[in-house]
Amino acid sequence: MVWELAGRPLLADPAAGLFADVEGLCAMCGSVEPRTAPTAKAIGGNFTDQYLLARPDSARICEGCVWVCAGKPPATVRMWTVVARPDMPAPPSAGKCVLPTGRHVHYTSRADMRHVVATLAEPPVGPWLVSVAESGQKHHVPYARINHGAGDWVVRMDQADIISSPTLFRLVFTRVVRLRLAGFTAAEIEAGEPSVVHLSAPDGLETWRRYGEPLWPYRNSPLLHLACFLPTKGHLDEYARTYPA
Ligand SMILES: [Zn+2]
Repeated sequence: MVWELAGRPLLADPAAGLFADVEGLCAMCGSVEPRTAPTAKAIGGNFTDQYLLARPDSARICEGCVWVCAGKPPATVRMWTVVARPDMPAPPSAGKCVLPTGRHVHYTSRADMRHVVATLAEPPVGPWLVSVAESGQKHHVPYARINHGAGDWVVRMDQADIISSPTLFRLVFTRVVRLRLAGFTAAEIEAGEPSVVHLSAPDGLETWRRYGEPLWPYRNSPLLHLACFLPTKGHLDEYARTYPA
């Protein structure tokens, strides 16, 4: 989907020369594609160590998967967080990103996750995809699920799938934003263990009781980890205005 929306960018040689009009099941994403290449040649010999294959029994791989795994930073998809949604034009991607975006693909870094937050809090009606690069080292996009509409969603973050819903995400995210504004660190929030220093700050205890204690069921969960990873200091006020507690 990302490759399609990015305008089916051409592959560089030698990968491009390996493809033929041979219909096959893609070992990486599991979809049947009209144009494929031998997996081992296209992504390197000991690929099973580095890649999580959906269909290790297949020897073919699709162009989209080879493209999202190819390249070196910053011209490689794996180092970017990706939002793909055909329902609207994408906001500009991160300045350092040199990948082709098409009209609907947004590549970003941790510095600005606002399009990610907006999409997770209010997903579009049709298909959409969010895949978060946490380390920048792991291939995540080939394994990201395509979601449909505003029901429960699955978001890829490096090698983990995070399952939630827009309502639950907003609930957790708005509380995290309040706690971060009150000085609590992401580590304190994720573990459910506020420090005495932050609790004894003005309004510290009250803020923790109101927004931190309800997060107890989510402590150390993938969802809370994502909610703590997304907001940067510079955008906390904006998030607090957009998502009132
Ligand atoms: Zn594929």
